[in-house]
This record gives sequence, C-alpha cells and structure tokens, in this order.
Amino acid sequence: MVQPAMAKTSRNLVVIGHGAAGLTAALAAAEAARARNLGVTVMLIEKAPESEAGGNTRWTPSYMRMAAPDRVEPSFVHDMLEATRMQGDETYFARLAAEAPATVQWIAAHGVPFHQPTYYLAKGPPRIQPVGGGETIFRELTRAAQDAGVALRYSCAAEQIVSDQGRIRGVQSAGETVPADAVILACGGFQGNAAMMREHFGPGGESVPLLAPRARFNTGDGIRMALAQGADSSGEWDGMHIEPVDPRSKNSAPVVLVYPYGIVVDKNGRRMFDEGGGLVHETWEAFSRNIHFAAPGREVYAILDSRLYAVPDWQRATRSEVPPRQADTIEGLAKLIGVDTDNLAATAAAYNAACTGDPATFDATRCDGLAASRELDPPKSNWARALVEPPFLAWPLIGAIAYTFGGLATDDRARVLREGRAIPGLYAAGEITGHFYGTAPNAVSVLRAFVFGRRAGLEAVEFLRGD
Ligand SMILES: Cc1cc2nc3c(=O)[nH]c(=O)nc-3n(C[C@H](O)[C@H](O)[C@H](O)COP(=O)(O)OP(=O)(O)OC[C@H]3O[C@@H](n4cnc5c(N)ncnc54)[C@H](O)[C@@H]3O)c2cc1C
Repeated sequence: MVQPAMAKTSRNLVVIGHGAAGLTAALAAAEAARARNLGVTVMLIEKAPESEAGGNTRWTPSYMRMAAPDRVEPSFVHDMLEATRMQGDETYFARLAAEAPATVQWIAAHGVPFHQPTYYLAKGPPRIQPVGGGETIFRELTRAAQDAGVALRYSCAAEQIVSDQGRIRGVQSAGETVPADAVILACGGFQGNAAMMREHFGPGGESVPLLAPRARFNTGDGIRMALAQGADSSGEWDGMHIEPVDPRSKNSAPVVLVYPYGIVVDKNGRRMFDEGGGLVHETWEAFSRNIHFAAPGREVYAILDSRLYAVPDWQRATRSEVPPRQADTIEGLAKLIGVDTDNLAATAAAYNAACTGDPATFDATRCDGLAASRELDPPKSNWARALVEPPFLAWPLIGAIAYTFGGLATDDRARVLREGRAIPGLYAAGEITGHFYGTAPNAVSVLRAFVFGRRAGLEAVEFLRGD
C-alpha cells in the first residue's frame, strides 16, 4: 500500500509586503506547499496597518501590456530591451513574456476578471486590465491567500534579515525575530524615503509628491536589508516613473494627458519642451521630471482651446474631476492662473504662427505628423494646431512619482543575486527589483510583480523542499 508522503518538519516562509508581488508570492507558495503536502508555513508581513496596506498596487488602474489574457505581443522582449536602452536582462524579460499568460490565467482563476480596456486617448501597445483595477487585485488575492492558509500580519515592518552561516533564520521587526527559513522581499521601492530620494535624485528629490498615498510606506527597507546581505543592485538609481497630475484633484492618480494637444508653459509663460514629441507614455516621464526639478514653483500649465471638446472621448485623457480654468482671451487666462500675461500672449502668438499645417489632419489617437514649422523653439512635432477658439483652457500640472527604478538584482527565477550567484533562500519581486533603465516600459510593472511574485513563491517552496 502506498503511504501518503509525510510532511517534513515545518519550515517557515516569510513574504514581506502586501502588494501585487507579495500577494502572488504568498498565494503561489501556500498552494504549492499544500499540493505537495509540505509542512511550509507562509506568513505575509506588512508594515502598514490593515486599512492602509496594499502599497501602490491598490491605487493603480493596473494596465498590463498583453495583446490578450493568453498572449503577449511577439515584439515584447525586444520592446523591453529597447525601453531599457538595451541595458535590461534579456533572460529576465524572456521569462516575463513566457510566464505572463499562465500567470494571468492563474490569477483569473482566483476571482480577478480581466478585460481589454480603452486606454487614454493615445493608444500605443495593446493592454489588458483587471476589472476594477488594483482594488480588485488586492481584495481577491487577499481573500485567496487567506483561504490557502497564508497568515497575515499588519503593522509589522521588516527591519533586518537574520542569517547565520549562510542560512536565513528570520526577519527582525520591532525587536522580535519572526522565524524564517526563506524570505521573499516584495516591499516596493524607495519613493517614500526622503533621504534616499535626495541621495539618488539630488536636491528636490526629497519633495517629489507621491502618486499613491500608500506608497509612503515604501521606504527602501527591503533594498537596504538585502544589500546588507551582500546583494547585487540593478536598475537605474536616478530613474523613476513620474507622471503629470492635477494638484487640485482628489481623485486617484489624476493624470492630465491633454497636454500634447496644446502647449505647456511655466509660470513665466514660456514653453519648455516638445509637447508633441511622442505618445503620452513616451513623453510623460521626462516632462514630469522637468516640472519638478526645473520649472519655477514646480508647477506648469497645459494651455488649450475649446477645440479640445470636439475631440471624440477627450475626457479619457484626464482623470482629474476638476474642470480647467477658462477665459475668453489668452491674456484673461494668464491673469486667472497667475502666469506672466505678456509672455504667455507672446508664446501663444509665436506658437500659432508656427502652426502652418492642415488642421484637418489632426488626430489625437496617434502621432499625426502635424508638426509646427521649424523655427518654433522648442519644436512641436505632432498635434500642432493653433490656439484660436475661445474659451481658452488651462490645467495646472505637477510631477508625482509612481516608483523608483533602482533596486535588487534578481535572476529569471526571482532569486536575489550576490556577486552574480543566488543567495540561498532569498527572493524578490515587484518594484523592489531593479531591471528598469531609461524609461519605465509602459504597463509592465504590475505584470512583472505578478509573474515574478508567483515565480518567487514557487521557487521558495522548491528551495524549502530540498533544504
Ligand atoms: C497611480 C499609479 C498608477 C499606476 N498604474 C500602473 C499601470 O497602469 N500599470 C502598471 O503596470 N503599473 C502601474 N503602476 C505601478 C504599479 O502599481 C506598481 O509598480 C506595482 O503595483 C508594485 O507592486 P509591488 O507589490 O512591488 O509594490 P506595492 O504594491 O507598493 O506593495 C509594497 C508593500 O510593501 C509594504 N512595505 C514596505 N516596506 C515594508 C516593510 N519594511 N515591511 C513590511 N512591509 C513593507 C508596503 O506598505 C506595501 O503594502 C502605477 C502606480 C501608481 C502609483
């Protein structure tokens, strides 16, 4: 008679962080341990109190760069390498592409439905989205993790990994050591740490507003803890994903992405960049960084005219609930928003004079090639249509950070590396890992948190089985 496999002495896996990466890691580990009848206890510890847990994940619309729930675009890996200026790890992104469909199906089976959303006005690559965004991810995966036996502990900030002779023994939190034979770090980047932000981004780094309020708990703790274990780092330390938002809005992530269709001026009434230099997800990072680090008062204004209202679905280009300031003349608008009147009038006149193309070719959904004439400085490469139809509109904009790029080096099995080799029992997934350089690959952050979170959970259980 075949005897049922005996469970080994219980081993402890601690997952740190209650976002997309931590939830998928804990759930995958608990399921794998149960399926193999292994005595593995999975505990997820979270720094925030229960009501504030969920980090960036809970706040995000969670667009995911997939052609459909069962496939990524054939060019996915190449696109990732291009976005990272060819500095990304091809093996890592190949694993991401290969495991994305199965991971999404696994998540869907846990009660998170996916659909193909309409994106902002400018389309770019295809994307899928969990219905209900990050709140659905958080709610359904928390429930699934609890059903699978994951223990959740809130207000429990990981401070240090305890190791002895190359073996992980636990995680220290508030003077207590939580026992651990393996650890998965999923506690985000360092956008909530003013000192680290200043260290890596220079003066002003400490005051970049957060796009998601709960990200204030993401203070680089996990990065520091792993570096103390000798972990390698990866990603661009002075890189961040940052977006232009309406400071008046109370909405989540109130981006204002109408700026390509008009001009953007600073408080002095001067243009700063080529507003039509690409689709919004290609220009928003450099633009938003400039708002915070270069514009006087760290605030600028997107100026448009009422022809915006004739663009089909133009509302999709903003998540701010606050209407723009409006006036019948450019001078009147300048007074309303406190911008130098003469300069704004001169800027608008120079821009209008350079809009010599055929306005009938204007198309908000793609780079339409409607460029301003060459003498305009800075240039405007697309959507160059004169501002002539009152009322004139102005949205104030500031730059707000979503996440940082600098983090831990991991391989395609989510193992944290030290001098290029895996540290036994230590895994990481999500924002805490590096891998991004140049610009954030659009709509990949949640996807990689899912894929490498799940992979980390599976790998950790394999490690504990063989340990
Ligand atoms: C407004 C907004 C919109 C976005 N839109 C998209 C999008 O459409 N598509 C996309 O792909 N990405 C998007 N992103 C980025 C994406 O949401 C995040 O990169 C992703 O959710 C990160 O998941 P994570 O699990 O790594 O981190 P998080 O979700 O931030 O979770 C980290 C968790 O760790 C906890 N923690 C921190 N320190 C400790 C500690 N010492 N001990 C214990 N716990 C700790 C935090 O409290 C938090 O709960 C957006 C981000 C924002 C802010």
